[in-house]
Amino acid sequence: MRAVDVIAKKRDGQALTADEIAWFVRGVVGGTVADYQASAWLMAVYLRGMDAGETVALTRAMAESGRILDLGPLRERAVDKHSTGGVGDKTSLIVGPLAAACGVIVPKMSGRGLGITGGTLDKLESIPGFQVHLSQTEFLQQISEIGIAIVGQSADLAPADGVLYALRDVTATVGSLPLIVSSILSKKIAGGAPRIVLDVKAGRGAFMASPEAARELARSLVEVGTAADRRIVAYVTEMDQPLGQAVGNALEIREAIRTLQGWGPSDLTELALTLAAEMIVLAGLAPNQRAGRRRAAEALASGDALARLRALIMAQGGDPGVVEAPELLPTAPITAAVRSPSAGYVASIDAGRVGAAMIALGAGRATKLDQVDHAVGAIFERKVGAAVEPGDVLCTLHLRSAEQLPTATEAILSAYRFSSGPVEVPPIIRERIAG
Ligand code: URA
Repeated sequence: MRAVDVIAKKRDGQALTADEIAWFVRGVVGGTVADYQASAWLMAVYLRGMDAGETVALTRAMAESGRILDLGPLRERAVDKHSTGGVGDKTSLIVGPLAAACGVIVPKMSGRGLGITGGTLDKLESIPGFQVHLSQTEFLQQISEIGIAIVGQSADLAPADGVLYALRDVTATVGSLPLIVSSILSKKIAGGAPRIVLDVKAGRGAFMASPEAARELARSLVEVGTAADRRIVAYVTEMDQPLGQAVGNALEIREAIRTLQGWGPSDLTELALTLAAEMIVLAGLAPNQRAGRRRAAEALASGDALARLRALIMAQGGDPGVVEAPELLPTAPITAAVRSPSAGYVASIDAGRVGAAMIALGAGRATKLDQVDHAVGAIFERKVGAAVEPGDVLCTLHLRSAEQLPTATEAILSAYRFSSGPVEVPPIIRERIAG
């Protein structure tokens, strides 16, 4: 087989065989297919697309390009959860402990911030001492003892995705459905869980801005994941305004703790209970969503889920005292209110603008090498639907220095839109798609 022939076949719009795809992916990782050939192939896939069979073959080939974690007997109750990423999305920090407290095994591999969206690992690292790198033995031991571990992905899991994603990023080929689906699912398959709950975000704070594009991605993830022998349930969820109230790493950890104490924002609590219920059902620990939700709600009310977060923090070297004393988390030296310029109702808060403002503050990365400032961020005191008077606090900024204030204030104000009449709040869950 020659790389040039595989590229030409796709360039001419023909479907590749599973063997051709597997050969090409092996070559990308092994170095026998050059970067310029992989780039040309990615552009051919971007322009010509792939059918479902090709996408399944690509997903399998990428998953098999490295180690596939063997969860052993824990596999029976193992359910993974993945979000396509959003602004203020700290859901995994709530859903994971909720599901684990109900008996689900949660072997979670998370990522860092990508573009305007935050990353679970960056959030967890705001907890003093928290380690996101565990050996495979430590990882397996921890999930067998406390039911949950949240770690960074090791380099030997789906290494083909590492190479291809870096090339996509610089060849304008990120936004291709088969490439996105295979990238997400190959890593999840390599993570070893046979069942996966996906949270596909739709809105200005998400990778997919329109609900239609998000639905198409969710459908494709379910179809391809099912063909690759995984049970997949995908939810399309709202990400037009920030999720919950907090955006910023340590601030989001505080909000996750508050939510597990039962005081969380309603959108975040609703989303977390829904996803946890789905995981409980998929693990075979409840007969249906309603029963799963009841169990999740009990784990929340009893404090079991909060205790599971504490156990997770302790197991991974973090200071569990943050649960009772959130002031142990990094705090920004300056807080400042952004006030409403007018009377009316909050019509929308552009989460994309908020995400960009948070990167400018240092809460996210502008380049891969940037250090994250864990303390900075914002608390959205008034969200969509809230009635406001001039001078009411819309948002409290947590800043590293006073020089950040004018630009951050302007950015937050530019994200808000107001209406003279009442505004309906869109439901957090848009749709459920199951295989
Ligand atoms: N997340 C991923 O892991 N891969 C993509 O291609 C897009 C989002």
